[in-house]
Amino acid sequence: MTNWGTNPLTRGAYSGALPGMAHMREVVAEPVGDLVFFAGEATGGPLAQTAGGAMNSGHRAAAEIYSALRNSTLMSPCPNGLQLCFR
Ligand SMILES: Cc1cc2nc3c(=O)[nH]c(=O)nc-3n(C[C@H](O)[C@H](O)[C@H](O)COP(=O)(O)OP(=O)(O)OC[C@H]3O[C@@H](n4cnc5c(N)ncnc54)[C@H](O)[C@@H]3O)c2cc1C
Repeated sequence: MTNWGTNPLTRGAYSGALPGMAHMREVVAEPVGDLVFFAGEATGGPLAQTAGGAMNSGHRAAAEIYSALRNSTLMSPCPNGLQLCFR
């Protein structure tokens, strides 16, 4: 965490891993069960710290959510067969 939010001259920040700790980004990206999912540049794998990493992480998290929904007893295929609907 940084205190950039209190600095009027700073308009943003991005994550930085301590030396030797970059592998922990994978841990940060792990979902909590099928309920909480994480996206954002800090979870962006090799492109962490960049807009590309943020975008990739969004795609990954969306895929994780879709997979969780597909396996959920709350969902079933919609009549059109393409999407998932609540039962
Ligand atoms: C000075 C600077 C220069 C950079 N230059 C480059 C560059 O040249 N190329 C590059 O690829 N990347 C660059 N980056 C990095 C890039 O901007 C970030 O990696 C990217 O924007 C991260 O996207 P994100 O969606 O993970 O997070 P963000 O873009 O930070 O989006 C997070 C959003 O969540 C919102 N939010 C925060 N808290 C809450 C809350 N409690 N409730 C609801 N919303 C909340 C924020 O307002 C924000 O809109 C730069 C970053 C900085 C700071």
